[in-house]
Amino acid sequence: MPFTPITAPSRRFQDKVCFVTGATSGIGRATAVRLGREGGRVVIIGRNKEEGQESVALVEQAGGQALFIRCDVGKDADLKRAVERTIKEWGRIDVLINNAAMMTFDPIAKLDPKDWDQLMNVNLRALFRLTQLCLPHMQGGAIVAISSVHSFQTTPNVVPYAASKGAMDAFVRGLSQEIPHTHVRVNSVAPGAVDTPMLWSNPNVKSGKEKITGQVGTPEEIAAAVCFLASSEASFINGTTLAVDGGRLAAL
Ligand code: NAP
Repeated sequence: MPFTPITAPSRRFQDKVCFVTGATSGIGRATAVRLGREGGRVVIIGRNKEEGQESVALVEQAGGQALFIRCDVGKDADLKRAVERTIKEWGRIDVLINNAAMMTFDPIAKLDPKDWDQLMNVNLRALFRLTQLCLPHMQGGAIVAISSVHSFQTTPNVVPYAASKGAMDAFVRGLSQEIPHTHVRVNSVAPGAVDTPMLWSNPNVKSGKEKITGQVGTPEEIAAAVCFLASSEASFINGTTLAVDGGRLAAL
């Protein structure tokens, strides 16, 4: 049965400040729109200004407030500036969605160490630094990291990506042990194949090395799960990874 979003949205994020990385496209954008539809004030983080402004317009059309902050999540100075600007504008942070990511497609034997470092900065270090930078401004709320089924099962030539996602899942488990869940909960979502530019530009998908079997999810289906984990409805869920993959990981 196709996914039908709820027609009369609840207001789980009314006036909540939600910081979403990679919100200029795909899953991050769908999450930003969903947060806005439920009353959130959404910080759109990404590098592409035009796409960022498009996301702002979509969040506003959905009934929320939005602010685009141009930020390369691989750069520490950008992350600091983005969090400072958020606090200046809206005074606090309730929800951190760490979603921006990149991939590399070289085998480990040939991978340039600079590419390894860049991927780890964007995919993993940003989660660590944003957690550090945001936590002092969070009085309750939630962190949701966007992982991947590649944390569990993978294909050749994407080892850095798979390793970064596996580390993200370990990060949320570990962090959940350091912060009381009544303060800030921290979880991750591991999407399967989702209809976004990242999926269709993946050379392994194009060549058939990574087989897309079964259904491809929509960004909105992932956003629904992300927003559930970010909301107080998930108040007793902490330190876990939720696969949202249409059953892909369960296949023999
Ligand atoms: P997407 O549509 O290509 O979006 C990627 C987003 O990441 C863009 O908004 C991009 O923004 C941002 N980004 C990349 N590098 C950045 C950087 N250095 N600084 C700031 N922003 C950066 O991809 P998507 O599929 O929605 O991916 C979202 C998340 O889902 C990723 O964590 C990905 O690993 C995960 N995921 C996706 C799939 C799938 O099949 N699509 C499956 C499993 C997991 P700018 O270009 O504006 O910087």
